[in-house]
Amino acid sequence: MIRRKICMLGSYAVGKTSLVSRFVKDIFSERYQTTIGVRILKKELSVNERPHSLLLWDIHGEDEFQQIRSSYLRGSSGYLLVVDGTRAATLDKAKQIHERVRGDIGELPFLVLLNKSDLRGEWELSEGIDWDLGPKGSFLATSAKTGEGVEEAFRRLAERMSADD
Ligand code: GDP
Ligand code: MG
Repeated sequence: MIRRKICMLGSYAVGKTSLVSRFVKDIFSERYQTTIGVRILKKELSVNERPHSLLLWDIHGEDEFQQIRSSYLRGSSGYLLVVDGTRAATLDKAKQIHERVRGDIGELPFLVLLNKSDLRGEWELSEGIDWDLGPKGSFLATSAKTGEGVEEAFRRLAERMSADD
């Protein structure tokens, strides 16, 4: 069994906890749940025909806690940076977090998730996003509500992490 730590990162209320819940338990809650501290959920899946155990670290994203601690990031194989498509400011925040993380743990595979794709009519993001993610990153639209792109997000990240071996 190959074990991997993945960090969920992004501003407050972008959907980090909802995406993990959707992926791990296939559920969605409209209720707002403040995540206190760190929640770690495990999901097993097969990547390139090899069993993987993904440990999903869900870090709370309240603004006063945005100083992501190095202890959260340590040992990660990759991360998902979540943006709320209905709030353009969360994209700027994601860029800041990315710089912070890169400075701390270096170049790791990551995906920028443009979440809340079910609310596309209310999106503040323009079609072409001005952000060069480099060779380790890519964009994907997701919805924790409908499930769009969720499985693909974790799977694609796990595949990238495998390719890095
Ligand atoms: P976190 O602070 O990043 O962990 O965000 P949460 O997962 O707690 O979600 C914040 C709010 O956004 C909650 O009310 C969720 O129900 C809602 N939410 C999360 N993902 C989606 C989504 O894909 N679509 C819609 N419509 N709402 C979402
Ligand atoms: Mg949360």
